[in-house]
Amino acid sequence: MLPLISEVSLAIYKTYVAHTVSLLIFYYLLTPIVKEVVKIIDIHCHLTFKEYETDRGQVIEDAQAVLKRVVTSGVDPEDAKKALELADSHPDFILVALGLHPIHVVELTDHEITDYEDFISGNRMRIVGIGEIGLDYYWIRDPLKIKRTREVFKELLELVRELDLPVVLHLRGEGAIEDGLKFISDADIRKAVFHCFTGKPQLAMEICEEGYHISLPASIVRSKTMKKVAKKIPLSSLHAETDAPYLSPDEEVKRNVPQQVKVVYEEIARQKKCDLSTVENAIDTNFERMFGVRL
Ligand SMILES: [Zn+2]
Repeated sequence: MLPLISEVSLAIYKTYVAHTVSLLIFYYLLTPIVKEVVKIIDIHCHLTFKEYETDRGQVIEDAQAVLKRVVTSGVDPEDAKKALELADSHPDFILVALGLHPIHVVELTDHEITDYEDFISGNRMRIVGIGEIGLDYYWIRDPLKIKRTREVFKELLELVRELDLPVVLHLRGEGAIEDGLKFISDADIRKAVFHCFTGKPQLAMEICEEGYHISLPASIVRSKTMKKVAKKIPLSSLHAETDAPYLSPDEEVKRNVPQQVKVVYEEIARQKKCDLSTVENAIDTNFERMFGVRL
């Protein structure tokens, strides 16, 4: 009797071991694939802004559950410091681009701008890009102020070249995208993303042919032109962003959050008639190529 019991026990034990081993193999093989599918990137948002004052920690935690990385963008000297501090407390999640939004250019003296450029240079190793910088003909109408923003934009592009970083461009209002394209071509900038692109598909095509990239925001859900851009330009030139707390895809909920970037991925997949994982893999590659970050 005894040998029979131990034979049965051995058989049960062997089955148990075999089952456990196959479960472990299944887990280790499949987990990275599952994680890959749900991890996406928001290449442009503003996590330092006052809209997140009361619940910033929770907003970041919620974003972390869905996203692989976010790039928060500093828009002026004060905001730049906050962005770097925030990234320090979330080292594997928040990346930083430092720039000077055109609407803040006119608030600063030459001396303050030089100091800020020195600050950016001093933090070269802590950032992945310069931006947002550019032109805003929508909010800035005074010719003297426009002249000032154009001069400062040109100067900041010299810094981009000097630091050998990609640039994230803010170009808004009639003719701003065309002017911005000329500025970066003249400055011989090689790596540029046209953030929150609102131009026509043909202009988007010209930009991509120059080797630059285009980033589409979550408000694509309401924009026929943006959908056409997503359809027309190659997947290898596209990025996705939220510009949160702005440009919410949901008209009822005004404050946007980084994980809403998923609607951009979904819309790109719809326009390209491909599956979501194709879009995710392409944008991952674009991100690594543009920002030099290994994901
Ligand atoms: Zn922005």
